Amino acid sequence: MTHAIRIGLGYDSHRLGNGGPLRVGGIDVPGEVHAIGHSDADVLLHAITDAILGSVCEADIGRLFPDDDPANKGRDSFDFLAEAIRRLHGKGYSIVNLDCVVLLERPKMAPHIDNMRSQIAEVLQISVDDISIKAKTGEGVGEVGGGAAIAARVVVLVGK
Ligand SMILES: [Zn+2]
Repeated sequence: MTHAIRIGLGYDSHRLGNGGPLRVGGIDVPGEVHAIGHSDADVLLHAITDAILGSVCEADIGRLFPDDDPANKGRDSFDFLAEAIRRLHGKGYSIVNLDCVVLLERPKMAPHIDNMRSQIAEVLQISVDDISIKAKTGEGVGEVGGGAAIAARVVVLVGK
């Protein structure tokens, strides 16, 4: 890996079911829905994990932590994130900054975003100023807009 900076892209989505709380960005957000998945189904941590792994051409989250492995059932997604950052550092890179978008109809993310940023910054060993998280609704359109799904998109810049 010859260049001093590299970029990574992460995407994830999960179906939503009735009954809260909704685990996003390491926070249990109170409300009427939860995300369905094998681990804790944290869409934002999964997208960040994949962005970091992708930036240094590591295998994606699904290959590192298969969903048919009982060890990953109900697993805290911070474990996945910690492994991604270990691999990134192992290749001699660290995070410059992260920009994230969470797409969902409800509940409102805004009151929880600063809390998510501090938790994630701690695990990634970066400043909260280096992680941006935005939330957008689907304006009533598609799976997200209809309240059936939650999705996240993340870009990360890493440097030597
Ligand atoms: Zn996921």
